[in-house]
Amino acid sequence: MNPEIEHSDPELPADDQAPAELMTGEPGVVIDRSEHPISRRAIPENVLKVLYRLHRSGYRAYLCGGSVRDLLMTRTPKDFDIATDAHPMEIRRLFRNSRIIGRRFRLVHIIFQDQVVEVATFRREPERGAPVDEGETEDLLITDDNTFGSPLQDARRRDFTINALFYNIADFSVIDYIGGLEDLRLKKVRVIGDPDVRFREDPVRMMRAVEFASRLGFAIETETYDGILRHRNEILKASPPRVSEEILELLRRGWSRGAFRLLVETKLLEPLLPEVHRAIVDDRAPYFWKMLEVLDRTVAAGRKISDAVLLSVLFLPWAVDELEAEEKRRDGKMRIGEVIIFIRDLIQPLCARMALAAGTRHQIEQALETLWRLLEPPNERRAMFRFVYREPFNDALALLELYALSSGRHVDQFRQWSSFAQKVRRAEGEAAPTATKRRRRRRR
Ligand code: ATP
Ligand code: MG
Repeated sequence: MNPEIEHSDPELPADDQAPAELMTGEPGVVIDRSEHPISRRAIPENVLKVLYRLHRSGYRAYLCGGSVRDLLMTRTPKDFDIATDAHPMEIRRLFRNSRIIGRRFRLVHIIFQDQVVEVATFRREPERGAPVDEGETEDLLITDDNTFGSPLQDARRRDFTINALFYNIADFSVIDYIGGLEDLRLKKVRVIGDPDVRFREDPVRMMRAVEFASRLGFAIETETYDGILRHRNEILKASPPRVSEEILELLRRGWSRGAFRLLVETKLLEPLLPEVHRAIVDDRAPYFWKMLEVLDRTVAAGRKISDAVLLSVLFLPWAVDELEAEEKRRDGKMRIGEVIIFIRDLIQPLCARMALAAGTRHQIEQALETLWRLLEPPNERRAMFRFVYREPFNDALALLELYALSSGRHVDQFRQWSSFAQKVRRAEGEAAPTATKRRRRRRR
């Protein structure tokens, strides 16, 4: 616990509470504590401390974004973000354990032993020039968003109505400027404002719509959906690292199958990853969907799957197709050395386009190459040992597991490798203490 933060009483004295009104003269609905399910018990102590200190110092202190949405749905939030009218330097002065971060928009991180609480000053969408004539395609891409604003403006610049709710620590009420509560009730992902503008400003919002819909089991509201259909090709204008991170977010957290179904349905996948799209569309690779299902179950069970395996799952149907086509062209099966060169040449341009880190690209290459090696297990046990000890073995085995369980292909090879690896690890476990002893003795 940080000594800088005094222990605050979660029950604020009556005279410390702000009246249950917005005080900004802005239109908005205030939902009283008795009419919503958010309990302070569900908010981490450090987050409450920051909210209380801001409030006591005379600032507005709201929980915002995904945390309010998730708490209202009685889900556990991933992180708790705070919005306030205090400026970054003022926040900085209030918390010695804080630092200002970000070049474009300055946020304050308040650092606790086991948690970082992010506090942002209310901001608004940047000013734009005069509206252009219809038919003209003005470039709306946001390049500067460093403008402070009011709570209403801050709600309006957010992406979806369900992500624009505030929880006010002053009176424990929920503030809804945009209609997010109604959309939570209707289970709808609705973009705030005009989809034509909002998706052109930031095309990644289209992927986020898909993410929230599949993650929460919501529908994408009609105008939002049509907006995606109209602007899907503009996803190519978004920064590749951000898009790749969003793709990983779709694969990582247990809702990949629904998300990729929606990416196909909204036709976003086609511009995003045309090679993957070609390989899986029209049920060309039924095992791909099964593979995502198994992946989602694996992740939900708490097993950590590396980014390289996640992306390899995505690339696999395409790689299999391309290899098969190449073998047809050559009129014969390729040797493993040829397969490896072929896979490298195949995935390098895609990894470059996705701006993946060199390390990740290398791991994907290794996982896919090793997968093909595993499909033809060597006859000799010594050669098998060498495999198990090589770095990409675990990734390749995880990939083979997903592939075999989903396609029904290569199940024998998977079983053989899996039991061999288990035996090796067991033997390693038994041998380990002896090895340590020996090393100690030598040192003496
Ligand atoms: P998660 O639970 O995954 O963290 P989240 O809703 O908190 O979901 P974040 O990416 O953490 O999502 O963003 C926090 C908040 O910032 C969002 O709830 C939303 O209000 C706003 N936001 C994030 N990305 C955008 C964007 N591209 N355009 C507009 N607002 C955004
Ligand atoms: Mg968040």
